[in-house]
Amino acid sequence: MTSAAARTALDLTAGLPVPSLEDFYRDLHRHPELSMAEHRTAGRLAERLRTAGFETVEGVGGTGVAGLLRNGDGPAVLLRADMDALPVREETGLPYASEADGVMHACGHDLHVTWLAGAAAALADGRETWSGTLLVVGQPAEETGQGAAGMVADGLYERFVRPDVLLGQHAAPGPAGLYPHAPGLIMSASTDVDIVVHGRGGHGSRPEATVDPVVTAAYLVTRLQTVVARETAAAESAVLTVGRIEAGTRHNIIPAEARIALNLRTQSEAVRQRMLAAIRRIALGECLAAGCPKEPEVTVGATFPVTVNDMETDRRVAAVHGEVFGAATVFDPGPAMGSEDFPQLAAGSIPYSYWFVTTTPHAVWEAAEGEGIPDKLQAVPSNHSPHFAPDLSTVAPGVRTLVAGALAQLSVA
Ligand code: ZN
Ligand code: ZN
Repeated sequence: MTSAAARTALDLTAGLPVPSLEDFYRDLHRHPELSMAEHRTAGRLAERLRTAGFETVEGVGGTGVAGLLRNGDGPAVLLRADMDALPVREETGLPYASEADGVMHACGHDLHVTWLAGAAAALADGRETWSGTLLVVGQPAEETGQGAAGMVADGLYERFVRPDVLLGQHAAPGPAGLYPHAPGLIMSASTDVDIVVHGRGGHGSRPEATVDPVVTAAYLVTRLQTVVARETAAAESAVLTVGRIEAGTRHNIIPAEARIALNLRTQSEAVRQRMLAAIRRIALGECLAAGCPKEPEVTVGATFPVTVNDMETDRRVAAVHGEVFGAATVFDPGPAMGSEDFPQLAAGSIPYSYWFVTTTPHAVWEAAEGEGIPDKLQAVPSNHSPHFAPDLSTVAPGVRTLVAGALAQLSVA
């Protein structure tokens, strides 16, 4: 243990009110709220921030919460937790399972809010040990990609402070107590695309009088598989998944249109643009081949950017995490195909560090089929699963990671 940041982080989190934080977590877990409807969650977080001494405002960018603590000269550091839950019916059977019908904290954002509240209080309590400014953010609507951009557009940085650095963390599958860090690309970009194929409807017995959009859509789905397989270099990482295909009502009616909804995962803007161009070209080509009466409509929907950690910022945070938790708990997992809207908070240029905290209970991990980490990772409940159930033992460590990360950036005596 050498750095002042690591020593101070351990000091400030030695006496964490763990039972109270666990109660807070269970309460949030029982009462999940969908994206842009995080009213109760925002209220509970704001209450804790006010109690801790933060100047706190609700309703930023919809249901967002911002808490500000100015504490002398030094960098301004933003700590972020997302707050929204998912339209998933919980099947964990936990005593504190969701009480909201068909809504669940299946991505761990309840844990993120708990970590943030705990870290904000610990840093405020120990404010004589550091100087600088803390901007603590409860962000709505991460899952729909609206929340971070919405808060920035609502003047988050003009009304409070423009931070010098951003920190965020996410619960992830893996034996509880690991802190994966990547000093560069850590999450992929995600892009939704909708395609409408226009045919000409008619009787199923007389295809010659129609242009069948079902057959065109089927060719299209198959041909789209070549975008990754035949048009993307082997060294690039990309995924194209057609998640929905819709057409028709009855056995003997040829419908007038078919709809395809697909999602892309990419790790560079160049690959993303090439894939979008290929999708447009293939859609147009298939519709031309079929003799569709109208060109297809190709619409780009919700988009998440790549998450690329600033190397220097992330290395500094990772080093302190290594000191606090042990060097073996911090490692580079390489980029994930998952996506985040966290980079929108960077507003184009603010450096950031975003890392994972593994939360699978040890008993669940040990019981999972397979020998190595990759096998077990496929066997344990992932984020968005109705069985996703982070270990309560990760409440305190997730507070500690955030406190240590903040102290690695602030001025510490
Ligand atoms: Zn999620
Ligand atoms: Zn999430």
